[in-house]
Amino acid sequence: MDISDKIRIIEDFPKKGISFKDITTLIRDGEAFKYVINTMADNLKDKNIKYIAAPEARGFILGSAVAYAMGVGFIPIRKPGKLPGETISYEYDLEYGKDELVMHTDAIDIGERVAIVDDLLATGGTVNALAKIVEKAGGIVAAMEFLIELEELNGRELNSEYEINSLVKYN
Ligand code: 5GP
Repeated sequence: MDISDKIRIIEDFPKKGISFKDITTLIRDGEAFKYVINTMADNLKDKNIKYIAAPEARGFILGSAVAYAMGVGFIPIRKPGKLPGETISYEYDLEYGKDELVMHTDAIDIGERVAIVDDLLATGGTVNALAKIVEKAGGIVAAMEFLIELEELNGRELNSEYEINSLVKYN
């Protein structure tokens, strides 16, 4: 199934010069949404995955559906101040400034295998921070799944130690 035409491009969002890939037009199409989730779940089978971990907010949409399709658990990764329990965090660099992601400290036990799901791989900073949190907790990052990859931003390079799959590529 060709899902690339379901992604809407919006120029100059969230700021001038950015060509934003809008996935809301894809996920409102039931067949396309199902195809994406089933493809990701299929890529992850036979990898002994215990959990799907995904960052807010678009990562939750895809990640929880993939977890459900696989019959495994889901771990939300959030911005600071949102999770109620004790958390571990990882700070990472943005183009301007820094950002931070957090996870419940007891979400993962040592040696458990985790797959990361997000809507889009750009510079790879977000998903790299997420992987470092999983590893800090003692987990193993078994693979990373993306709906979209912006190839020219080299997110794979920053995450070269991990297996990466993406469904739609732009360059
Ligand atoms: P990175 O950390 O790889 O540079 O950026 C990836 C993160 O930014 C992802 O969590 C993704 O949700 C968000 N993101 C950046 N650009 C876009 C875009 O054009 N479309 C969508 N849907 N998300 C984007």
